[in-house]
Amino acid sequence: MKRLYWMNPELFETKVEVKAIADCKVTTDPVIFHPDEGGQPADIGSIDQANVTNVEIIKSQIVHTLDKPLVNGKYIARLNKQHRLYTASQHTAQHIISGIAEKRFGLGTTGVHIGLDRCTVDFDKKIDWQTVQIIEQQSMEVVTLNISVETVFNEKDVRIRSNSKEIESDTIRVVKIGDYDKSACCGAHLKSTGQIGIIRIFDIESKKQGVRIFFLAGTKALEHSQTETSILRELRKSAGCSSSELNTIFEKALSNSKESAKEIQRLWSQMLPDIAKSAIVAEVESTKIGIQVVDIPRQLVTKLAGMMAEIFDGAGIVVSNTNIAISSKYINANDLFRKIQNAVEGKGGGSPKAANGKLSRTVTTDELIEILK
Ligand SMILES: [Zn+2]
Repeated sequence: MKRLYWMNPELFETKVEVKAIADCKVTTDPVIFHPDEGGQPADIGSIDQANVTNVEIIKSQIVHTLDKPLVNGKYIARLNKQHRLYTASQHTAQHIISGIAEKRFGLGTTGVHIGLDRCTVDFDKKIDWQTVQIIEQQSMEVVTLNISVETVFNEKDVRIRSNSKEIESDTIRVVKIGDYDKSACCGAHLKSTGQIGIIRIFDIESKKQGVRIFFLAGTKALEHSQTETSILRELRKSAGCSSSELNTIFEKALSNSKESAKEIQRLWSQMLPDIAKSAIVAEVESTKIGIQVVDIPRQLVTKLAGMMAEIFDGAGIVVSNTNIAISSKYINANDLFRKIQNAVEGKGGGSPKAANGKLSRTVTTDELIEILK
């Protein structure tokens, strides 16, 4: 099975011999579609009038899935050029990143993912952001040098990075980018590094013993950078400062907001006893029940109900919008909740001491008294 993209990555269209192996599944000779392999997604395109929707390796064969069946014969196979150039750009950039990371920092590549919106490389050791930036800068130097991406076969001492499935076990295809990288790989690449245009590394995160870096190449890298620049620009505008001042201003705003939240919390704590005391009191089974329908923060509803049960030495029912909390010392809080739920509907429940939930609608104090009678 001859994979033309190994030696001729710029062949986007050619005549192939098609063999149907199942309904809408064919093999071709030669092969110009790259299968989903080694972290690089499958090529898409067409064979004659049929669209190629997936290409995968099944039992050592490169199998093309079509959207309509084809009978055996010779047809023109056409790649979706834009899609191939995208995946090949990201994949070639990954070789450069992995090569530099290994040569310069002794990092082994343990995983690669070429996605349609984001690409990642996993390294076996921890590195910091500064190191990532050096790798990014040196990767860009390799792009500028416009080095040929070569294919050689069966070289000794070659690194096998991708967990690709072997097809021709007697042939090891090796990809070489000058002195920067030399590794066994089955993928589709660009002809030379200059075609990548730009490599950007956007983020790093910890992963087990090592790290995962997020990168993009070519137009996709430019688009992502533009999006981030626009966000930065908007932030500068609304904060009225320069980019370098943003961090300080953001931290200050965050701290102010925490202070304000604390202050609001303190004020509510001061007001809560008065709100509890001003509740309407009803009597059910000779137990005093304080009823308060009031607009308060959700997280204080239960606290207020508890406070009312203590003050009236009975029970407290608090409704804030559709949130409800019941606290009771003697009669069953859950029974009270069910009674209200039967009348108004809603979700929730609890124990004889406390119940809470959400009603289907808000209620008035008079309505609650009527329900409880
Ligand atoms: Zn490769």
